Amino acid sequence: MDATRIKPPLGHDNAWWWEMAAEGKLGIQCCSQCQTLRHPPRPMCGVCGSMEWHALEASGRGTICSFTVLRHPQFPGYEYPLIIVLVDLEEGTRLTSQLVDCEPEDVRFDMPVTVKIHEDPDGFKLPVFAPAGSGA
Ligand SMILES: [Zn+2]
Repeated sequence: MDATRIKPPLGHDNAWWWEMAAEGKLGIQCCSQCQTLRHPPRPMCGVCGSMEWHALEASGRGTICSFTVLRHPQFPGYEYPLIIVLVDLEEGTRLTSQLVDCEPEDVRFDMPVTVKIHEDPDGFKLPVFAPAGSGA
């Protein structure tokens, strides 16, 4: 692959999540007051309004709760078709990610998946998911 993937915008609210990804970890933000998990990262708890939170490392196990296969438009740095999945993590929160090592016609609802850290040629790391038991 020659093209470089479009990098996500890093801000105060999500930089920690990408730093965990760079260490090969899937992060989940957890409210320190009521322990509600949330994703994507944001400053305030939607349940209790607390601004206090800490990060947990997810087990990386989950099931597919929804998915969509993107064929167009095609951005450089991605392989198509791209399978975008909404994963129900076993911790109880949901995460939008990409499914790899799977053909679009083989994706099913409730399919067990595990996290896998994808690394671009330039070293950028991104948590993606693969079918559980595929050797990830
Ligand atoms: Zn809370």
